[in-house]
Amino acid sequence: MNFENSYAALPKAFYATVSPNEVPAPALLAWNQELALELGLAASGYDEAQLASVFSGSVAVEGSQPISMAYAGHQFGYFVPQLGDGRAALLGEIVTDAGNRFDIQLKGSGRTPFSRGGDGKSWLGPVLREYILSEAMHHLGVPTTRALAAVGTGETVYRESPLPGAVFTRVAASHLRVGTFEYFAEQNDVESLRTLADYAIARHYPEVADEKSPYVGFFRRVAERQAELIAHWMSIGFIHGVMNTDNTTISGETIDYGPAAYMDEFRYDKVFSSIDTHGRYAYANQPAIAQWNLARLAVTLLAIGAEKDELEAVLASFPDRYGAHYLALMGPKLGLYDVQETDSGIIAEWLKYLDDNGLDYTLSFRELASRVDAIDDSRFGPFETKWRQRTADQGKTPAEISAFMNSVNPLFIPRNHRVEQAIAEAVEGDLTVFNDMNTALAKPYAEQPDLSDYAKAPRVRERVTRTFCGT
Ligand code: AMP
Ligand code: MG
Repeated sequence: MNFENSYAALPKAFYATVSPNEVPAPALLAWNQELALELGLAASGYDEAQLASVFSGSVAVEGSQPISMAYAGHQFGYFVPQLGDGRAALLGEIVTDAGNRFDIQLKGSGRTPFSRGGDGKSWLGPVLREYILSEAMHHLGVPTTRALAAVGTGETVYRESPLPGAVFTRVAASHLRVGTFEYFAEQNDVESLRTLADYAIARHYPEVADEKSPYVGFFRRVAERQAELIAHWMSIGFIHGVMNTDNTTISGETIDYGPAAYMDEFRYDKVFSSIDTHGRYAYANQPAIAQWNLARLAVTLLAIGAEKDELEAVLASFPDRYGAHYLALMGPKLGLYDVQETDSGIIAEWLKYLDDNGLDYTLSFRELASRVDAIDDSRFGPFETKWRQRTADQGKTPAEISAFMNSVNPLFIPRNHRVEQAIAEAVEGDLTVFNDMNTALAKPYAEQPDLSDYAKAPRVRERVTRTFCGT
């Protein structure tokens, strides 16, 4: 691995130097060969034992300067001035042949100066969960951090009960968050704030450096990426569950899959996370929360000279930016080739039908695709007739419309009951369900007869209604 350490080259206030734990029995549970190839790691010819040693943090990698990043954040609306990587170590950055820079971060590799009361470790559950959910997200075409490896440590981690320990390797365009900006803003450390903003611009939005107001341009890019990201989440029925500002990336990638869930039956007010008691992060609230989080970023940019009026104008444009992305994603899901603003009515009508009847979000789109040339409205009621009229005058055959819809509506999503089954069986030493899920989810739009069970919605008694931030 050819590590660069640009973040570690920033001033000391940005991070703490750490050394990941040596673990008793590192064992490779999952390795993402496709991603390794993209990163240019595959040619190095390591065997599994070596990969397990490196990606458990047991063996130091040449050229790596492990650090834990400092950040703050608004959690459920309340400001916490110091969070930071309490169980994560950034090994360094890899720059691909195409010139893209990626963070390689171990999660669960031991205590850091930001651990507070925590043990800095992770048990197997959250590691496999993030692996499945984040890779599924990637294959659904949504910006996200990715999973390179999952390694068992051979240690026992104590939560409510003794559990097997594990380390997750996360790959991200960067780990810069809104909370990183808030960390320095809170301390009135204007110089560090400027250094951070310039670093973020150079790394993610170099084109704004030459604009008249680079920090406003930067804010506009971040707002645009977040608008696009949340539109994606809404279009696939994803509920992040903990949209705190420390989990809001500057790159526009999905990060932190703690209590995240993909919906089964559609509900606008759906909440999974056990700690989200007031539904702050409910499905339908996600766009408004993203805008709220962006406002927290805007406040920090005031301190480095960005004009208030200009920041406010960008912030006010968020609903329109979001709406445009949402429409562009939802139109094709309903078989509309040239979606118009007036189509938001039919989209809302469809969702209301799903909500009123508690229908499965994912599979209902697939079912609708099979009804393009049906002659009755027996499945989806009056909506169906109206929808068929709207799709009919597009100069496409029913078969074309149906195929078009199936190319954008997944058959496979990471069903919560399956994720829990994968974890329960992995704890017993059986990775079959975990591996099968990853295989199915790598081609979410394709019929895969051998794996068709994983496409099924849970039966009522199988439904998972609560998720936990398990660390
Ligand atoms: P999260 O809920 O993953 O966004 O984490 C919130 C904060 O809690 C971050 O500062 C984490 O680093 C910290 N944290 C979570 N779990 C642990 C743990 N097991 N040990 C130490 N710090 C933790
Ligand atoms: Mg987090």
